Amino acid sequence: MDGNEYVDLMCSFGPVILGHKHPAVERAVAAQRALGDTQAGPAPCMVEAAELLVDRVAHADWAMFAKNGTDATTICLMVARAATGRSTVLAATGAYHGSAPWCTIRLDGVTPGDRASIAYYEFNDIASVERAAEQAGGDVAAIIVSPFKHDAGFDQELVDPGFARGLRALCDRIGAVLITDEVRAGFRLNDGGSWEPIGVAPDLSAWSKAIGNGYPLAAVLGTESLGAAASRIFVTGSFWYQAVPMAASVATITAIRDEGAVPAMEAIGTRLRDGIERQAQAAGLTVFQTGPVQMPNLRFAEDRRFAKAGTFCGAAVEHGVIVHPRHNWFVSAAHTDQDVERALEGTWEGFQAVRRQFGPG
Ligand code: PMP
Repeated sequence: MDGNEYVDLMCSFGPVILGHKHPAVERAVAAQRALGDTQAGPAPCMVEAAELLVDRVAHADWAMFAKNGTDATTICLMVARAATGRSTVLAATGAYHGSAPWCTIRLDGVTPGDRASIAYYEFNDIASVERAAEQAGGDVAAIIVSPFKHDAGFDQELVDPGFARGLRALCDRIGAVLITDEVRAGFRLNDGGSWEPIGVAPDLSAWSKAIGNGYPLAAVLGTESLGAAASRIFVTGSFWYQAVPMAASVATITAIRDEGAVPAMEAIGTRLRDGIERQAQAAGLTVFQTGPVQMPNLRFAEDRRFAKAGTFCGAAVEHGVIVHPRHNWFVSAAHTDQDVERALEGTWEGFQAVRRQFGPG
């Protein structure tokens, strides 16, 4: 609008995995829009999108669609409860699974009843999960977990494979459903389920953000044994059968593999992380970069109230790079080495501003 240009390192908080206006996605969108979008029933591309997701994500035998990540995680809970006849769901303390009353991060407008059947454990601490399960008696319907710890305002933490295997074993032992929340990490760590490289398969997974490269779509993927329960629950929405986002999804998921999106994001993320590390050292500032390089997370030392992070991001944005002080950032497969160089010009201004305002440290 005002002539400014930015390198977008938030990618719309995750959806834009292939870059804004990716040609193949936009072509698929235009073609579907010419045929029809919101109609009284679904278009054939719903089946194509479902088949593609089931093909790409190893644990999945079926798919169903909704709009937002919150829809997907909430449907997972409903399927697990319908299948087991139990109520309690175990979730990690501080993990974000959406903005419905069972999981939203503020308690205003939420009743104790909304939270009555949610119990909490600590990420990467299997003993805490065992304790929470024991306290719930025989009532655990599901355990929901993010592929890695990506809570806003904290260092990110990769999953300990032993923890993931422990969750799988516990669910098998007590007859509970294992749900992975792939809404944020999905298709950024792996061209398929995020835990496939460590050999742990969930029963259900919740997806949104990256599956449509910016077009509104969410999906729940599940194993055969939960198909009957998924068919019994009633969930729908006026716009859930919109065809354009499903056509966008087919093109997006296809391009993620064909264009090597995951290795591209790894290479770009590594370049960015190395550049930021060099700049922080040159500015005499201590920073912590955590989690996968595709989803950068930057924290300043001695910065509990995020004052340094705020100064850094304010100056960086003024100098042409969109970053966030508390939430992880996202790289896309469209970012080039030149984009990283331009982004680093902005982050360098950010570090200089922090140094001026707070001194070294
Ligand atoms: N789960 C995770 C891990 C998320 O990051 C988000 C969104 N940030 C959600 C669920 C909720 O998705 P939505 O905002 O699309 O409802």
